[in-house]
Amino acid sequence: MKIVILSRNPKLYSTKRLHEAGVKRKHEMLILDHTKCDLIIEKKKPAIVYNNELITDVDAIIPRIGASVTFYGTAVVRQFEMMKAFSVVESQALVRSRDKLRSLQILSRANLGLPKTVFTNYSKDTSEVIKKVGGAPLIIKLLEGTQGLGVVLAETKKAAESVLEAFNGLQARVIVQEFIKEAKGADIRAFVVDGVVVGAMKRQGKEGEFRSNLHRGGTAEIIELSEEEENAALKAAKVMGLGVAGVDMLQSDRGPLILEVNSSPGLEGIEKATQKDIAKSIIRYIERNV
Ligand code: ADP
Repeated sequence: MKIVILSRNPKLYSTKRLHEAGVKRKHEMLILDHTKCDLIIEKKKPAIVYNNELITDVDAIIPRIGASVTFYGTAVVRQFEMMKAFSVVESQALVRSRDKLRSLQILSRANLGLPKTVFTNYSKDTSEVIKKVGGAPLIIKLLEGTQGLGVVLAETKKAAESVLEAFNGLQARVIVQEFIKEAKGADIRAFVVDGVVVGAMKRQGKEGEFRSNLHRGGTAEIIELSEEEENAALKAAKVMGLGVAGVDMLQSDRGPLILEVNSSPGLEGIEKATQKDIAKSIIRYIERNV
């Protein structure tokens, strides 16, 4: 099979591992930088040109599209789909997953547990917004943030008000969220491939840090999910339409609460924590579908 990995950097752990896993299973593996793909659109003959060469006969693609290039990246994924390549992450699902607010609405409709969240059109009535999530401490998140940047814990009502006013003044869109104290600075990442949890880890923020992101110095260890957690992760990936997903959850007194569903989840943290060959699971998912 001819499989294209869409990645801007062939040296990234995830890109290298997917490439290696594909080669090991005797596939022709190609790494293309999606930002350098030219799309040719004409009547019934969609094509992609890369370094002045026509890319043809691709059986499947593995999109690894960063948040900053979602627009162009999804156009490239869509073009491959038009050329009949199987994508482990459909363009529609990719776009959906990048809109934090829309994702929360979809998860809520599916009756999944979520931290209570409020979104307003820069409401000046900050006091009312704060009240709606049960008061301080609370979490304020920039809609555009990733890797824990742009996630603020406001410990008091005063702090929450001033942070909200500052973001409103900058016309930065934020969501206000109930703070799940009992998560104790930890979260769970369940890695889902084709309706199966292929690995799960618990990430713990460093001392004094409420954010558990590995990029923020958190540490990870393998965990066994409860049945409730596993079901929540599978359902979240399913309703988001993602064949490959990293589902982030908080453990709360009222069960698992979904924080986010990632469509380009990294392999390094999960493979190192679980010692599992997640890259191979993704290649095998392609083999079953092409
Ligand atoms: P990002 O997408 O930037 O990683 P997240 O929403 O995943 O942002 O938040 C980053 C981290 O902050 C999470 O992994 C979690 O540890 C912590 N966190 C986020 N939201 C909450 C919340 N409502 N209550 C408690 N901790 C939270």
